[in-house]
Amino acid sequence: MQIARKDLKELVLIIKSANFIISAVSPKQWPEDGLPEIVFSGKSNVGKSSLINALANRKKLAYAGSTPGKTRMINFYDINGNLRFVDLPGYGYTKASKTEAGVYSKLAQEYFEKRENIRLVVQLIDIRHDPSKDDLQMIDFLISHEFPFVLAITKSDKLSRSQVHQRASKLANSMDISPDTPFVLTSSINKLGMEDIWDAIEFYAFGQDE
Ligand code: GDP
Repeated sequence: MQIARKDLKELVLIIKSANFIISAVSPKQWPEDGLPEIVFSGKSNVGKSSLINALANRKKLAYAGSTPGKTRMINFYDINGNLRFVDLPGYGYTKASKTEAGVYSKLAQEYFEKRENIRLVVQLIDIRHDPSKDDLQMIDFLISHEFPFVLAITKSDKLSRSQVHQRASKLANSMDISPDTPFVLTSSINKLGMEDIWDAIEFYAFGQDE
């Protein structure tokens, strides 16, 4: 299958609309139209809201440093009317007890179990910290349940160029991932990596249907 990447990029990288839909506490509140969903997962404070804003090219779509309540819900955002970003609860902030499946929140586990329109998971890891036990468990979960995922290594602007390379290879080695797993250095400040994340989003949300 040949993807006209350039055409796709021009189609999707122009964000015509980006809107908050709902903070859901129950599956009954999940949107029902079956649009492709891109899921964002990671530890609290890893830069999830900032990455969502940077990808959507909006300053305040997702709340950076948001209120604890909202960060425990599942936040849905509509992008261009043909795609959704789904912001899962951040983990590691409170000592939420883990579910049997190894997913950090009951809401998140329910979402992964029931949702049929998940196309890609963007798993965020802060470049400055080794992956936590929760991060590794989350990655194991994604692999064992065969969810396509991309690793977004956040806040790369906080380190010097040589530190970035050092940390990136240390991080890659500390995770039990296949060499094919997309591993993208990102910064929501200088927008590094946004095109690569969008490439993955386009491919998994739209490319495979072509
Ligand atoms: P969340 O809890 O995962 O949604 O994290 P936020 O997006 O709220 O970010 C947590 C903190 O890290 C905030 O102070 C952000 O300004 C900061 N931050 C997030 N992404 C970046 C980044 O790429 N570079 C820098 N320098 N700071 C970032």
